[in-house]
Amino acid sequence: RFSDAPAAAAATEEPIQPPVDVKYTKLLINGNFVDAASGKTFATVDPRTGDVIAHVAEGDAEDVNRAVAAARRAFDEGPWPRMTAYERCRVLLRFADLIEQHADEIAALETWDGGKTLEQTTGTEVPMVARYMRYYGGWADKIHGLVVPADGPHHVQVLHEPIGVAGQIIPWNFPLLMFAWKVGPALACGNAVVLKTAEQTPLSALFVASLLHEAGLPEGVLNVVSGFGPTAGAALSSHMGVDKLAFTGSTGTGKIVLELAARSNLKPVTLELGGKSPFIVMDDADVDQAVELAHRALFFNQGQCCCAGSRTFVHERVYDEFVEKAKARALQRVVGDPFRRGVEQGPQIDGEQFKKILRYVKSGVDSGATLVAGGDRAGSRGFYIQPTVFADVEDEMKIAQDEIFGPVQSILKFSTVEEVVLRANATPYGLAAGVFTQRLDAANTLARALRVGTVWVNTYDVFDAAVPFGGYKMSGVGREKGIYSLRNYLQTKAVVTPIKDAAWL
Ligand code: NAD
Repeated sequence: RFSDAPAAAAATEEPIQPPVDVKYTKLLINGNFVDAASGKTFATVDPRTGDVIAHVAEGDAEDVNRAVAAARRAFDEGPWPRMTAYERCRVLLRFADLIEQHADEIAALETWDGGKTLEQTTGTEVPMVARYMRYYGGWADKIHGLVVPADGPHHVQVLHEPIGVAGQIIPWNFPLLMFAWKVGPALACGNAVVLKTAEQTPLSALFVASLLHEAGLPEGVLNVVSGFGPTAGAALSSHMGVDKLAFTGSTGTGKIVLELAARSNLKPVTLELGGKSPFIVMDDADVDQAVELAHRALFFNQGQCCCAGSRTFVHERVYDEFVEKAKARALQRVVGDPFRRGVEQGPQIDGEQFKKILRYVKSGVDSGATLVAGGDRAGSRGFYIQPTVFADVEDEMKIAQDEIFGPVQSILKFSTVEEVVLRANATPYGLAAGVFTQRLDAANTLARALRVGTVWVNTYDVFDAAVPFGGYKMSGVGREKGIYSLRNYLQTKAVVTPIKDAAWL
């Protein structure tokens, strides 16, 4: 599956031929792959080269209408919400098996379309998608309401019902995982779905959606519309036939979709947005270990993570040693063709992100931060960027405030726990944080004081299926994963009936 050629300078070498064909490029509506109503297509591009991989049907408002109509029928009249929960469970479990059977193909498609290393897609992401599907499949027949006490002679049942048609909009940085986080709980609860993938990465969702039908999903229950945000995404957000909206992406777009949802039918919205997460290294740290973890927290997935540890706060007592070692680690990072074994960092997703990241690097230099590693493109084509490290970063610099979404580490110095809490929290975001210390008291103080949805202590980027994920402040609304994700896709109904001559109440 991997190419075994050495990774050095891979960014400038001939790209490796991906070991997969593109099978699905049309919209998936009502169980069929169909052209866009307009007949339009758009190109999805190989980030290693900028070359076109395939032309994909470009859905817009009319296709969203067709997809919502199909989902509406599937929900209002179809078998999916009416079959036993155990049958739904079995479809999701069969789907997980099929993902494993096709793992190599799926991983290669995800690497080709998104530039992630094949080691990451094969080793982590595809297995996690199967894991999430089994987790949600397991929930399907354990979702139930309850009977609650009443003040009078009443029998009160609280029912948990599927919410209806869910509109889901996902980004390009984790196309398959976001598919799993969103589609898994929605289907487990008996809903129908219209999914809008990101225009940069439409391929893997179409492939796995075909497997979901092979697993027995009835037609119309999952519809996949590839297309752009202001057209397809906006149409889905404002659609009167959509009962719930879930979005992952930038904070700016999150505000737009929330407004569209409010102006249309007040559909409830969950948002998983950006971040500027602190990674805090205390003075007792084993510096080698801290450097490695902070490096991974930032550089994982080419730095394109909403929860990237993008402000590395280091205690003044270990600061100089940390900066030296962080620099050495970044210089060692293997950048190259993501299909090559041993490569740690592939290209950024597209030319737009590539240019934006380089603009941030320039802004870091201009604002007086010390560039200790990288700072330029890697290779001569595609969207590769050198692993970049800035030291002496100050809180007010743009590189310490904005979500760069690239392989750019910013190191900031601090002196006390109280100070670092204030500075770490002084951001409109609140997605995640990392804390590195052996001191239980410091770890506990920081874990409680940080205004974020996830605190990783002496670890980072652990995403177990049952663990809720989401943001404080402008990093989001609501939680995904775990039992919390089911609440997003259920309505709550109270049924009250009088009880005559009850033996007890
Ligand atoms: P984006 O928010 O524009 O895109 C995310 C999704 O929203 C895509 O499917 C897109 O088509 C859709 N979208 C865009 N405009 C829309 C609209 N008006 N109505 C409805 N849907 C719309 O993100 P992006 O432009 O791909 O990336 C920009 C920045 O967003 C990145 O640099 C990064 O900071 C951030 N980002 C965050 C995450 C995350 O996981 N939190 C993921 C991707 C990007």
